[in-house]
Amino acid sequence: MADLEKDILRGGQFLVKETNCDDVFTPEDFSEEQAMMKDSVMEFNDREIIPHKARFEAKDYALTEDVMRKAGDMGFLSVAVPEAYGGMGMGFVSTVLTCDYISSGTGSFSTAFGAHTGIGTMPITLYGTEEQKQKYVPKLASGEWFGAYCLTEPGAGSDANSGKTTAELSADGKSYKINGQKMWISNAGFCSVMIVFARIEDDKNITGFIVEYDTENPNGITLGEEEHKLGIRASSTRQVFFNDTVVPAENMLAGRGEGFKIAMNALNVGRIKLAAACLDSQRRILTTAVNYATERKQFKTPIADFGAIKVKLAEMAASAYAGESATYRAAKNIEDRIAMREAAGNTHQEAELKGVEEYAIECSILKVAVSEDVQNCADEGIQIFGGMGFSEETPMESAWRDARIARIYEGTNEINRMLTVGMLVKKAMKGHVDLLGPASKVQEELMGIPSFETPDYSELFSEEKEMIKKLKKAFLMVAGGAVQKYGPQLEDHQQLLIAAADILIEIYMAESAILRTEKNVKRTSEAEQSAQIAMAKLYLYHAVDIVEEKGKESIISFAEGDEQRMMLMGLKRFTKYANYPDIVDLRIEIAEKVKAEGKYCF
Ligand SMILES: Cc1cc2nc3c(=O)[nH]c(=O)nc-3n(C[C@H](O)[C@H](O)[C@H](O)COP(=O)(O)OP(=O)(O)OC[C@H]3O[C@@H](n4cnc5c(N)ncnc54)[C@H](O)[C@@H]3O)c2cc1C
Repeated sequence: MADLEKDILRGGQFLVKETNCDDVFTPEDFSEEQAMMKDSVMEFNDREIIPHKARFEAKDYALTEDVMRKAGDMGFLSVAVPEAYGGMGMGFVSTVLTCDYISSGTGSFSTAFGAHTGIGTMPITLYGTEEQKQKYVPKLASGEWFGAYCLTEPGAGSDANSGKTTAELSADGKSYKINGQKMWISNAGFCSVMIVFARIEDDKNITGFIVEYDTENPNGITLGEEEHKLGIRASSTRQVFFNDTVVPAENMLAGRGEGFKIAMNALNVGRIKLAAACLDSQRRILTTAVNYATERKQFKTPIADFGAIKVKLAEMAASAYAGESATYRAAKNIEDRIAMREAAGNTHQEAELKGVEEYAIECSILKVAVSEDVQNCADEGIQIFGGMGFSEETPMESAWRDARIARIYEGTNEINRMLTVGMLVKKAMKGHVDLLGPASKVQEELMGIPSFETPDYSELFSEEKEMIKKLKKAFLMVAGGAVQKYGPQLEDHQQLLIAAADILIEIYMAESAILRTEKNVKRTSEAEQSAQIAMAKLYLYHAVDIVEEKGKESIISFAEGDEQRMMLMGLKRFTKYANYPDIVDLRIEIAEKVKAEGKYCF
């Protein structure tokens, strides 16, 4: 394993190690099998979901269930499930691309799909015993049964381990009785299996159970009415009440008190899948917007010809491009790590668990970045449609409403932001990511005399790659300074954590876009990748601004006097271009490309 380990970056190491563009996976690297899967999923979306948008918006829950069953018939529910349990056993990249390309028709279906294949099924494939997997997974993989995940309670949302639902062991030790109330449960209206988290006695941590739900024999389970929601209207979301629900003792998942761990790991997988599920929406929003903007004339001019609209088209494209780049980069890292662990003798189950856990930082980064990008993209989509964007008759309105939930579930974006930094610090303490060495070097650099030479930046991306290195130094300086100042109390300084997370997020996203483009330029040409180069540069330009803003507010908050002055000067150095890109021209180039192609074409 040691040799292989050298070639695959560990989670979080992107911050301190340079990545070669040949080592990142990009959407242009899809294998024939992956490309076929993508086509098949897109065809399903075009046929079964998009034409029925009006019914989804009219809260036709039966339609969601029906289309889920059809997705099961196509095998889409089983992509991630090992063959031994009736699945296709495809790799992690295929799992992610299925979530991506099935998601753009409506957030309702996307949520039902994600809740079932992710948090509804994964806890069993990742933590189940052989008997549990044999009994439940094939039915979930085929779509005969659907899964739901019952973690949230009225009093326990972000603080998921604080739930009051109880599980009481029977006198004969053969079963547990579950009592409590869960809320916001996706797929509750049509599921047959629930992953339920409950507390045994006064355990510190909750415990997971597999609970069957049969409407003919409800076993003390009742459902609340369907929630009336801002978006994802045909996704079934209900409260679930357990009243002396009897669950066989063998349905406990993993061990007693292991539930919080299960919940968190299921969410890790869910987060990268959720990011993927926000990608095709962005592509589709942009395509719809560029077509409208080309046809809609004001002042005798197609609005797409106005600079004000070109800005929007270009920014929408660049953020979708960065989102794709980072999502597939991380997906392949996870896939490779799973393969590496299997090669080293782990079972698939152990390997998958560890593989995903390893990249929990990247999963949280992606969840936050891409859920916010899709929201911005939909918002600008409405703006491009003008008054028509506000009408239910055009697709922007529902895209905007549907996008909103992604910032809330699978851990709110605030919680995920704080997790990224918290997990990184933990990894550093465990010795998995050496932050201390690079942070000390940055400290020395700050004390030294800066070089006044202007390097040769004539080679493509040479300045951008140097800039990424500098942004990493900025993170190490800011986060390192904050850790030094507050130590373990840093977690009480949420504004600092969130600012540091924003810096980290921008670095990962911008670097991913640059590496993808560099790799593709090597196998095609700069001319062919011209718009992609422009998108990578545009994304980085904004990233640099964000790093400067967040770095500055952080430094001012925790450093004083000479130290503050030195760090602010360092930040200026780390966020300074030798040659500023002309982002007005970059945006025009990107906008002209999507206009010419009439779609998101990357
Ligand atoms: C449509 C929908 C579907 C859902 N599906 C499921 C499902 O299938 N299964 C399931 O178990 N749950 C589900 N959820 C629940 C979802 O995961 C929670 O809503 C989410 O975790 C947030 O919890 P909360 O709503 O209680 O908000 P709260 O935890 O009360 O948070 C409110 C605000 O406070 C912030 N906040 C909370 N704690 C902190 C803190 N420590 N520091 C800083 N800020 C903080 C949050 O970021 C947020 O902005 C769903 C929710 C919705 C709306």
